[in-house]
Amino acid sequence: MPDTSLPNSWDARAKAHSFFGFTDLPSIAERGTVVLTHGEGPYVVDTDGTRYLDANSGLWNMIAGFDHPDLTAAAQAQYAAFPGYHAFFGRMSDQAVMLSEKLVEVSPFEDGKVFYTNSGSEANDTMVKMLWFLHGAEGRPQARKIITRGNAYHGVTAVSASMTAKPYNAVFGLPLPGFLHLTCPHYWREGRDGESEAEFLARLVDELEQMIATEGADTIAGFFAEPVQGAGGVIPPCDGYFDAMLPVLRRHGIPIIADEVITGFGRTGALWGCESYGFVPDAIISSKALTAGFFPMGAVILGPELSDRLQRAVDVIEEFPHGFTASGHPVGCAIALKSIDLVMNGGLLNNVNHLIPTFEAGLAKLAQHEHIGEWRGRGLMGALEAVRDKATKTPFEGHLSVSERIANTCTDHGLICRPLGQSIVLCPPFIMTDAQMEEMFDKLSRALNKVFAEVG
Ligand code: PMP
Repeated sequence: MPDTSLPNSWDARAKAHSFFGFTDLPSIAERGTVVLTHGEGPYVVDTDGTRYLDANSGLWNMIAGFDHPDLTAAAQAQYAAFPGYHAFFGRMSDQAVMLSEKLVEVSPFEDGKVFYTNSGSEANDTMVKMLWFLHGAEGRPQARKIITRGNAYHGVTAVSASMTAKPYNAVFGLPLPGFLHLTCPHYWREGRDGESEAEFLARLVDELEQMIATEGADTIAGFFAEPVQGAGGVIPPCDGYFDAMLPVLRRHGIPIIADEVITGFGRTGALWGCESYGFVPDAIISSKALTAGFFPMGAVILGPELSDRLQRAVDVIEEFPHGFTASGHPVGCAIALKSIDLVMNGGLLNNVNHLIPTFEAGLAKLAQHEHIGEWRGRGLMGALEAVRDKATKTPFEGHLSVSERIANTCTDHGLICRPLGQSIVLCPPFIMTDAQMEEMFDKLSRALNKVFAEVG
């Protein structure tokens, strides 16, 4: 751990002039911050030289680790060739053109078009504006409502935070009006006593039907879903969820958007999360692994129907008045092209599928603990939910901050994992070796035993 006692320590300097997002202030007041200087494969190293195995791939994004030479080489070559350009006024870099072609080629769509942003939040905002724009142009200006699900995370900008169904957004007076939230499809937590998983699913479908009937199908602009909810605590949907929900939306002509910011590019074992769940959405929101975290970038990938409709709307108005200065940044595009190549041809996706059985077995083993209520996950994203009482699923008392204590104990042992609600979340980089996976579970197991002995 960094030395926090010195007045001009990195910790003191970090606290003096930087704001940390999503950070529990009492915790960093007590424990100090961690200031990092570099990475080595899946490890990050702090200013004292302490190495941490980052079991969360940074923020779910650093799929190729923290020092992949092919990605830095792609960035360096592009910086030397053409270090920056926009995508306004009919001009864009050759790298952006090539990346759009590649994204459409590897997407589940037969054809389509891409729009670039700098982040996942902006990509969701962009998608919402595209829907508002095209519904308006098609004579349905009232079609503005957006449906998402409880525990969804779609970002932090005013619109994407409104889509994010988290109570903490109340401090900003969000959600904005017209953002509707369905029940989170987490059977273990949301299922009622005596309700089978099939009955739970039927209730969710009924809730969707009711919502559409009450609000009016013609007032709804679109439905957004993460194939596996990530920042909600790694929640794969209940059995048959998309197969049952999507036909209802299709029947009412409501566009279906897959937010693949976490699940895209191999995280679930297939290239796309929607592929893992056997559906083709109308559009995909991408970010994070798109550039393996080596560049801030997001993308909206529209399938053929939405891109045709949007193009027709743009043709009428003669302009889509939206875009960011760094949309389609050539360095980001060059990195993304290399990252996609590493995933598909360089062994990363193969390694994900090699690691999945060990990952699932490791989670299942830890879930035998009397204070782990369930393990859940899909591909290389997983969670363990801590409970006081396994039989009744009673959570630990909030003031005990059990998941934070587990994560802090892991950090003390050189492992970074993330507390989310009462869960501990793991999302390892795709380059992990078997030995590193063993190290991850070994350190987590020791932390669980220590903390549960204290609070159990
Ligand atoms: N959508 C999903 C599914 C996400 O997980 C995130 C970020 N965790 C976002 C959107 C927002 O992305 P960003 O932080 O790049 O704005």
